[in-house]
Amino acid sequence: MSEQFIHTDGTIIPVGIMYCIGRNYLEHAKEMGSELPSEPVVFIKPATAHAISGSKIAIPTFSENMHHEVELVVVIGKDCNNVSESEAMDYVSGYGVGIDFTLRDVQMKAKESGLPWATSKSFYSSAPVSNIIPIDLISEPNNCKIELFVNNKPVQSGYTSDMQRTVPQLISYISHVFRLRKGDCIFTGTPQGVGQVVSGDKLLAKLDDKITLDIEIE
Ligand code: MG
Repeated sequence: MSEQFIHTDGTIIPVGIMYCIGRNYLEHAKEMGSELPSEPVVFIKPATAHAISGSKIAIPTFSENMHHEVELVVVIGKDCNNVSESEAMDYVSGYGVGIDFTLRDVQMKAKESGLPWATSKSFYSSAPVSNIIPIDLISEPNNCKIELFVNNKPVQSGYTSDMQRTVPQLISYISHVFRLRKGDCIFTGTPQGVGQVVSGDKLLAKLDDKITLDIEIE
């Protein structure tokens, strides 16, 4: 936990609400046995889910199957309500790479019972994020490469150009439904290749070779 987005130019913004998008990549939806949703699938993690690079993250005792999902993370720099897609990028502070840790066994049970996903997705330290690259250093967020290595082995690799909904579309949508505040962020969905992590695993996530996130599973 740190509950702060530390930008590479020194800007620090306290973490607000972490909005997460489910099934935003076709190949990941397929590997979960699902189709792309007609409306965005949104869930929320609290600031206590945030962790910084270098953190050790524990698997909660109530799960035996924690999965990694590497994602582009968009940090909001100014409050915004009801913004259009064409205005949306004016409210971005920067980008990072994050892991949406998911307790797949707990989530599957919740899905089967029609219950909320909160315990499977939003537990303590379930959302580590790298340091944040200021917006002017990433000109095209819809064409970034995100990668994840577990114990030096490549496990996930994807391009944000494959997202069903783009960064401005997601900002516009969330700003209409919830309103966005400075320090909120958006986990934009994961490409295919999600899988289980176990104690002792070392994870390295990368965004375009510009920034990395190092995590060890406790
Ligand atoms: Mg995810």
